[in-house]
Amino acid sequence: MTARILVVDDIPANVRLLEVRLLAEYFEVLTATNGPDAIETCENGKVDVVLLDVMMPDMDGFEVCRRLKSDPATSHIPVVMITALDQVSDRVRGLEAGADDFLTKPVNDLQLMTRVKSLVRLKSLTDELRLRASTTRNIGIEELLSRNFASEDTTPKVLLIDERKSSVERIQKMLRDRADLDVTSDPHAGFFQAAETPYECVMISTAFADFDPLRLCSQLRSLDRTRFVPIILLAEAGEDERIIRGLELGINDYLMRPIDQQELTARLRTQVRRKRYNDQLRASVTQTIEMAVTDGLTGLHNRRYLDSHLQTLFDRAVARRRPLSVMITDLDRFKSINDAHGHDGGDEVLREFARRLRKNVRGIDLACRFGGEEFVVVMPDTDGTVAEKVAERIRAEIAQAPFAIGPDGKTIEVTVSVGVSSVLKGVDTVAALMKRADLALYEAKSGGRNRVVAKAA
Ligand code: GH3
Ligand code: MG
Ligand code: MG
Repeated sequence: MTARILVVDDIPANVRLLEVRLLAEYFEVLTATNGPDAIETCENGKVDVVLLDVMMPDMDGFEVCRRLKSDPATSHIPVVMITALDQVSDRVRGLEAGADDFLTKPVNDLQLMTRVKSLVRLKSLTDELRLRASTTRNIGIEELLSRNFASEDTTPKVLLIDERKSSVERIQKMLRDRADLDVTSDPHAGFFQAAETPYECVMISTAFADFDPLRLCSQLRSLDRTRFVPIILLAEAGEDERIIRGLELGINDYLMRPIDQQELTARLRTQVRRKRYNDQLRASVTQTIEMAVTDGLTGLHNRRYLDSHLQTLFDRAVARRRPLSVMITDLDRFKSINDAHGHDGGDEVLREFARRLRKNVRGIDLACRFGGEEFVVVMPDTDGTVAEKVAERIRAEIAQAPFAIGPDGKTIEVTVSVGVSSVLKGVDTVAALMKRADLALYEAKSGGRNRVVAKAA
């Protein structure tokens, strides 16, 4: 795993010390000796993690962190504050400034590498989601990405898997009011519970009499429903080997016993905040994909979706020797509806038409807005005779009840022409199928409109 780490410290010797250790692990290292330079480097992009000294003249680390976290261009970059060991209050201030993690001086090698690696991993997930969301160049998504997610206003739902009663009681006390905590002493039960409940973090003790806690970690990582849940390992001093293996398996963080309350709440908060951020990004990516194949006006699928999906339905029909029909509908004299009732009136007609169309086709039929006032319905398992009946039903449904538009209940008569075609056995293609439906539509128009024409197979 390679990543670019920015080391910020006003004392060059400190910078050099961290730099050497990071370079030895094949990280790329950037350096800055003051706050403004650090911020500029972050703004220029390509920083994966910032290691930030707290004590600096002029602009201290808290202020640098606050600025990075309040700028949408840099707020997703993980920041690790480096505090003096005895300054407990610094940790709290760091967290208030939005830091993702902290390390205490002198910096321990295992901690440095595991924290950095775990943050790099989280960041690369976030980056991928951001990239996917932004390549769609959707305005709604851009807005979503630049928003600072309000992520700390609700108490996180957390599962603690720990068989030692005294430890459980201590943690319950520490997290009172800070987490909605469920506890189980049985790791097997804990696994099922984690799979059933949408926890925002799972904390796993390493101290089981006869169970390997890393097995539970790897099970959680391999199950779809728990793949992204943050895992914090509660380890004993001297378990470095186990922690390293845990990190390789995908645990997100660890705490050493005796557990410090501030450290516990800080690490939990970081994990929950990251998870919420990534969950929202993931949801926005899904939404973007849906938006990309949906027609905004009518909510039906759009032409792009039809283009990619019709071939699949066609191939499937041919392979299974099943019939398949398509119809193209085109509203009659729609231009004059626009002329008489305005573009908004026309839009209302299109929406109502889509509603009636949807009502008259089956769930497995694919109804799309082909463009303008043209719609296409693909009907799997439907031969020409049946398709013609469906088309006639739709035509009648449109012609028989006038469309209400505008707030004052004005109504207009609307009619539609429809062309129908079906797959010819043996020598057909999607293009030929669509072409025949289009020709049929043309005949319906020239034959007087408000009618259905089917091209016999
Ligand atoms: P025909 O019976 O021959 O189909 O006549 P027509 O007027 O329906 O056909 P034509 O293709 O000449 O005009 C279609 C009109 O649909 C022109 C265009 O401005 C309008 N149109 C296309 N998309 C939209 C839309 O999203 N909203 C509205 N309101 N009008 C649209
Ligand atoms: Mg048209
Ligand atoms: Mg038309």
